Amino acid sequence: PVPVVAIDGPSASGKGTVAARVAAALGWHTLDSGAVYRALAWLALEKGVALDDPAALVALAGTARLEFRDGGVAVNGVDVGDAIRTEAVSCAASRIATLPAVRDALLALQRASRRRPGLVADGRDMGSVVFPDACVKVFLTASPEVRAERRYKQLIAKGFNANIDQLRRELAARDAQDRARAVAPLQAAPDARQLDTTAMTIDEAVATVLEWVRT
Ligand code: C5P
Repeated sequence: PVPVVAIDGPSASGKGTVAARVAAALGWHTLDSGAVYRALAWLALEKGVALDDPAALVALAGTARLEFRDGGVAVNGVDVGDAIRTEAVSCAASRIATLPAVRDALLALQRASRRRPGLVADGRDMGSVVFPDACVKVFLTASPEVRAERRYKQLIAKGFNANIDQLRRELAARDAQDRARAVAPLQAAPDARQLDTTAMTIDEAVATVLEWVRT
């Protein structure tokens, strides 16, 4: 089977950045599974579909063309790469992600990203649900303060307004929701290796994961 590296962890823990860099070093594909939930949430907001209506959301996922190509995200042919990064979409994504029917509906799409020569997938349940046979499973964490700072810088760099105190509160609320949900709650797979990046540079985190992949 095509090898998969699964990188899971809470919001703004650095998983996306580390996953992209690890994939680049290996020459593998990436799957940003958060973008899958974000794209559907963005579309639901656009179309006025209720965020607590599983049947309507599953129908929406079935009719929309959701495309994920190594970093880019398109919905029905429209590039939504930046539009899905707002806090409004983050909150909506976290809400629809609590619905088991929605998670099931998005499984095949995520697994279709598994292509030769390999895949680096990041999210909350890559190692536990989507790719349980991943060859390396990493659970990436960082302190809430460091995560809020990282998300703040990311938003500012994209030209969005951001307030660090508000971000800290929103991250905490989203973590709580991701941990408390009944299906695929945010938690390390039993066979995942923990990597706390609070005091690490990106280079150090990437080097550590690459070492795990190569040994
Ligand atoms: O990782 P990111 O912040 O982009 O994910 C947005 C939301 O999507 C998360 O808050 C989480 O609720 C949900 N998600 C998920 N499972 C994944 C990836 C993301 O439930 N594998």
